Amino acid sequence: MTLYEQAARRRTIAVISHPDAGKSTLTEALALHAQVIGEAGAVHGKGNRSGVVSDWLEMEQKRGISITSAALQFAWGDLVINLLDTPGHADFSEDTYRVLTAVDCAVMLIDSAKGLEPQTYKLFEVCRRRNVPVIAFINKWDRPGREALELIDEITDRLDREPQLVTWPVGIGGSEFGLLDAATGDVHAYRKAPGGAHLAEEDTLSPAAADEHFGEDALRAREEAELLPALDSDAPKASVMPILFGAALGNIGVRQLLATVDQWAPAPGDRPTQSETERPVDSAFSGFVFKMQAGMDPKHRDHVAYVRVCSGTFERGMILTHEPTKRAFATKYALSIFGRDREVAERAYPGDVVGLVNAANLAVGDTLYDPDGPAVTFPPMPVFEPEHFAAARVADPSDAKKFRRGMDKLVQEGVVQRLISELRGDGNPILAAVGPLQFEVASHRMEHEFGARIVLDTLPYSVAQQVAAEDATSISHLAGVEIARRHDGVTLALLRDIYLARSIGRTHPDVTLTPLLADAS
Ligand code: GDP
Repeated sequence: MTLYEQAARRRTIAVISHPDAGKSTLTEALALHAQVIGEAGAVHGKGNRSGVVSDWLEMEQKRGISITSAALQFAWGDLVINLLDTPGHADFSEDTYRVLTAVDCAVMLIDSAKGLEPQTYKLFEVCRRRNVPVIAFINKWDRPGREALELIDEITDRLDREPQLVTWPVGIGGSEFGLLDAATGDVHAYRKAPGGAHLAEEDTLSPAAADEHFGEDALRAREEAELLPALDSDAPKASVMPILFGAALGNIGVRQLLATVDQWAPAPGDRPTQSETERPVDSAFSGFVFKMQAGMDPKHRDHVAYVRVCSGTFERGMILTHEPTKRAFATKYALSIFGRDREVAERAYPGDVVGLVNAANLAVGDTLYDPDGPAVTFPPMPVFEPEHFAAARVADPSDAKKFRRGMDKLVQEGVVQRLISELRGDGNPILAAVGPLQFEVASHRMEHEFGARIVLDTLPYSVAQQVAAEDATSISHLAGVEIARRHDGVTLALLRDIYLARSIGRTHPDVTLTPLLADAS
């Protein structure tokens, strides 16, 4: 198979959802339909459900939440799907945002009883800014939820993408319901399998047979479905949204989701770079780090860099160039499967994820490329808008050196952002995060991994806006304002709240405060 064919049969996706919408259940349902062929990191099994529990970090176990991201690789016919996991907890949405830079399509999972929840909306906005196509899967249709039309109206109004149907529900949840295939008019009738551990029983009914079987419900479903266009696979992907209904728990509608990913989600293609030109998918190997993970194995405090392959073939043992330093990086120990059971990756193609170990000198956003091909730099990882701030200092001043080294590492991995305030100086940096649990991870790792216990003082700011360095002095004395510099040199005004930002706009018309984009690109 040529490199181009390998790329063409791949789809790299992530599921975006609010906690409890069914992401873990959908991942397991996909695993029932398609064959799991590889795993990077560990699937976050919950409770005693199947799945490899990612328990490498003590804190994860204590809290019962998943902090890390991982990737699963499935085969479905000729298709190879890379499913990049995203942390469920909203406090780690910064991780999720970074994962979204590495996918070509997202599946937006919606709980049919709850509609578009806040976390889902936020993640959709990140997809919109990056032009990531989004497929909507309305889940839990096996139990009473909201009206299908009402749900679609809500989604469409708020997200501004044209809904195009793949399936439409017939009847409301219970032990039996159907999915109307918008392209053929056939109805797939399902009987729920007890517990959802097996595929639900399915019958395919012609339109006439469906009318007989479902009666009024079938007629109504047809009338409703006719209000919306069926999915046009050639439609511009960023302006439409394929809509599917189903129940991940009963494995209902999941096959249609796989088919939509196959037919509609884009395959890895040529990729924008920092220069004007795109990197052709079939040129020499290149990729970028979208996630760093440390301490996977408590005995070896190793650093793993997850790399999304953008072009070419990755072969284990290759010596790559690390773009920011132009140094060589050996990939002898590249992994496709890790966690407890490690397996070595021999080869990977565009869209795939490889884990590089001994990656302590890599950082999120870094480009790697084959020095035998042309050099390339992919755009830097966007910096996301922090909402929580805390000043950090080392508990025991004799650990100052470890403190500095540990902080450098955490910033490099993207665990927290670090801001330096003139008031406090280098030794007392301000940590900034999207979610406060990021502070707990930082604190835990500083003590247990770097041997420097830290003290955090929560600061009363909730907004950071960009300000020109020369304007900063005219507002730095105001109550509820502190000026700090980000690692990339940008000057930020940390503000008590958004109302203060607005009032400064009125009282200091000469000072321009610019909101940070959640995604700077
Ligand atoms: P996550 O937090 O998004 O990973 O959600 P989970 O996959 O853990 O699901 C949350 C809850 O919803 C669990 O109790 C699931 O059993 C349940 N659930 C998920 N999908 C379905 C579904 O299709 N139907 C029903 N009835 N329950 C579901």
